[in-house]
Amino acid sequence: MRVFTASLATETNTFGPIPTGADAFKARGYFPAGTHPEALSFFAAPLWVARQVCAAEGWTLIEGLVAGAQPGGVTTRAVYESLRDELLADLRRALPVKMVLLGLHGAMVADGYDDCEGDLLRRVREIVGPGVVIGAELDPHNHLTAEMTGNADLLVAFKEYPHTDIVERARELVALSSAAARGEVRPVHAVVDCEMIVTIHTTNEPGRSLVDRIRALEGRDGVLSISLTHGFALGDVPGMGTKVLVYTDGNQAKADALAQSLADELISLREQLAVPFLGIEAALDQAVAAPAKPVVLADRADNPGSGSPGDSTFILRRMRERGIRNAAIGPMWDLLAVRIAFEAGVGAHLPLRIGGKVGPASGDPLDLMCEVKALVPNMMMTGLSGAPTPVGDAALVVADGIEIVLITRRNQAMGTDVFTNLGCDLASKDIIVVKSAQHFQAAFAPFAKSVLHVEAPGAATPDLASLPYRKIKRPKWPLDR
Ligand SMILES: [Zn+2]
Repeated sequence: MRVFTASLATETNTFGPIPTGADAFKARGYFPAGTHPEALSFFAAPLWVARQVCAAEGWTLIEGLVAGAQPGGVTTRAVYESLRDELLADLRRALPVKMVLLGLHGAMVADGYDDCEGDLLRRVREIVGPGVVIGAELDPHNHLTAEMTGNADLLVAFKEYPHTDIVERARELVALSSAAARGEVRPVHAVVDCEMIVTIHTTNEPGRSLVDRIRALEGRDGVLSISLTHGFALGDVPGMGTKVLVYTDGNQAKADALAQSLADELISLREQLAVPFLGIEAALDQAVAAPAKPVVLADRADNPGSGSPGDSTFILRRMRERGIRNAAIGPMWDLLAVRIAFEAGVGAHLPLRIGGKVGPASGDPLDLMCEVKALVPNMMMTGLSGAPTPVGDAALVVADGIEIVLITRRNQAMGTDVFTNLGCDLASKDIIVVKSAQHFQAAFAPFAKSVLHVEAPGAATPDLASLPYRKIKRPKWPLDR
């Protein structure tokens, strides 16, 4: 059997201030056909798993383009069309194939394209025709449009948030797609739109039990796969929202009924699933008063993983004004401050203008007298599911007892090594502020004594009512009650 695999992925914050262009893909990962390295990369798990399966089965694997960008603002039309057309040209050269396996996100928006994945899958279907199995892995923060489900045979989203099951879900995708290609199963699907937007943190109840129960339903009684689309609230597109996707083996009525009952359950849980956010003052009050340290504060609104710059200063400013010491914050995306720190060298004492550079959502920069504690060129961080993740040149500076990690490749805090590779001793800190919404949990929760979700201002604000939506379908809870 001849199998084609490729990947094109980013998550688009349509309100985000940083456009996603060619550099964003080069920084996160741009591998033309046949050049993907041996190691796993974030949205190429189908390729990574397909290598193993094809080798074991004696199938021929043709590897096309893999391109992924850090979440950001709208992708430029020229870059989307050029990456899409490169991938499609790779596919045409690979023909004939029996199976196409794609690593996608599901919430990519480009100038002129509200549904990049739907556009891409439709074109893939046009090229391969109706007899070829098309399977794709998605992030659960996808928009799951009818064009996506209608042009793919199987879509499998990560179940865990933080996304620690990327490889596991890719194995399921490849196994189910292979079974469909051999004619052993005939996937039919049902989608139910819950008319709401909610994220499902699997580190907490009731998300944990819900996902465990859904996993137990799969692989029995003709249920092939179940995916929960959380949706991505910062994407102002018609498809945005929480949905349930069920595949059964040829039984449409069963798929419809199960999707509806799971949607009903999700709707009944939505108040409990909603994440409680604290304002900056309340979060700092709680952190200072906490009997056990360290306390981790998640700066959700400046999460680069949601398309934010990662350079906002709102929390850092208040920590300094309140005289908080023995704290750490990072990673902050600040090309200029890193450049100056590298020029000055380790041990230098100098004034640095930190953060607040991208726009109003980042706040004003802070002028701090800093000591340069450590410098690491081309630093790597351990990403989700262990995927090696570049963060560029990195500097650790300290100002009045607060250690600040500065990086040149925009990224959120996923592995603790984004701090510890620079010698920052996290366990000894009282307060650690991470630029991340939820992915930090996988690595930070094991030693954090408590975790607080902070609602600061920022380009990825959790205050959805403040966003100037124009395209999403209404009503949608909690915007509409
Ligand atoms: Zn996600």
